[in-house]
Amino acid sequence: NHETGTVKIYFFPFLGGGHQIPMIDTARVFAKHGATSTILTTPSCAAQFQNSITRDQKSNLPITIYTLTLPENTQLPDTDMSAGPMIDTSILLEPLKLLLLQHRPDCIVVDIFHRWAGDVTDELKVPMIVFNGDGCFPRCVFENMRKHVVFENLSSDSEPFLVPGLPDRVEMTRSQVPSFRRNKSEFVDRIKQIEEKGLGIVINSFYDLEPVYADYIRNELGKKTWLVGPVSLCNRSVEDKKERGKQPTIDEQSCLNWLNSKKPNSVLYISFGSAACLPMKQLKEIAYGLEASDQPFIWVVGKILNSSKSDSEIWALDEFEKRMKEMDKGLIFRGWAPQLLILEHDAVGGFMTHCGWNSTLECVCAGVPMITWPLSAEQFVNEKLVTDVLRIGVQVGSREWGFCDAERKELVGREKVEFAVKKLMVESEEVEEMRRRVKSISEDAKRAVEEGGSSYGDIDALIQELKILQTGKDV
Ligand code: UDP
Repeated sequence: NHETGTVKIYFFPFLGGGHQIPMIDTARVFAKHGATSTILTTPSCAAQFQNSITRDQKSNLPITIYTLTLPENTQLPDTDMSAGPMIDTSILLEPLKLLLLQHRPDCIVVDIFHRWAGDVTDELKVPMIVFNGDGCFPRCVFENMRKHVVFENLSSDSEPFLVPGLPDRVEMTRSQVPSFRRNKSEFVDRIKQIEEKGLGIVINSFYDLEPVYADYIRNELGKKTWLVGPVSLCNRSVEDKKERGKQPTIDEQSCLNWLNSKKPNSVLYISFGSAACLPMKQLKEIAYGLEASDQPFIWVVGKILNSSKSDSEIWALDEFEKRMKEMDKGLIFRGWAPQLLILEHDAVGGFMTHCGWNSTLECVCAGVPMITWPLSAEQFVNEKLVTDVLRIGVQVGSREWGFCDAERKELVGREKVEFAVKKLMVESEEVEEMRRRVKSISEDAKRAVEEGGSSYGDIDALIQELKILQTGKDV
């Protein structure tokens, strides 16, 4: 690669779901800018995006997949990320080390949840950059909380406090803060460590979306930062937009035909992300709330949590699905939906979302306002960005941080669901304003990734920096 003057970048995504998708797109974006991208992953994850990479290769994009072989008699949990960032991937340490020794890349971009990887890149002196699936805003919020907020001084979990040090007025409660950020935690220390070992951070966001927060990171956190997104915009073909790792459970053409029969901005899309998993009693409240709101919808029901007998007692999702189909009111995906295609359709006028960062960005790119229903990770902070800073969404009123498991106690009632759906989907001056705002941000997003745009420039700047590093190494 040195002879040809290209830079060779390895990308090491976390396993599955909402971290894998944007990292694959990032690898493709860098290949489009002339870098040689290699995606390091496990065989089962590779199978999820092999098709799209093969298509890229056919159009001569310099991108490949390298599968790390797991040591004998070892295995990793399934790739649905249901246990999320807590999964320990360190059994990949030896295979990674071997690969880096044999083929030294100019740089490796590592997902922050491979917390051990910084030790390997340090030892082998391979330049490393961290990829952390969220935006600039959460980083500023958490950093200021870490420095200034003393959680013990709050009288209760529901007492609001003002996040200090931010230019915008952002109030949160302790119950909305990830449990591992309320006290000192090893997990947070470890991700801080890998960040410190890196040359800098690649972020899937764009400058005009959160300029003040991007500046804050650049100036105050003392790390080089490249804003390279929204990377989902690199998906141009219907095939790329529909797959995203899994096959839709209703074929995309039937879904698009159904949307074609609906009026512009009339359909609400509902999804809680790649690891969506809610208890039956919560699904029931959503269903009744939707029906009462009388708005057409597409709802992605992921895995269902059968937590207790009382949940499964009376309610049948199948019947609801059948009734909605007969009334031509709603389409239900029992698994994966072609989210990018749905959001971009003119008939879709709102997205009820858990505020995962990818969903939030994809929605912004499509110019669609949101109903925010955060559950875990940094989603409550993303909600604040959407509703308080960008003012392009309404809150459903979820208050408690927690992974989607049997421990999840909070139930958002049907009245709240109905209220939020009507508020967003029935036209009003306020909603008109939101639509105008989000449309304008979506234009900014598209400009950012085009030649002359801020993300386009950041990608080229990073490649240039690696070239200089490469030359220095050769002298
Ligand atoms: N996604 C999809 N179809 C689905 C569910 C999710 O294409 O049925 C994609 C979605 O477009 C996004 C990603 O999966 O790119 C979810 O990432 P996000 O950060 O929103 O949430 P997470 O899955 O990490 O909770």
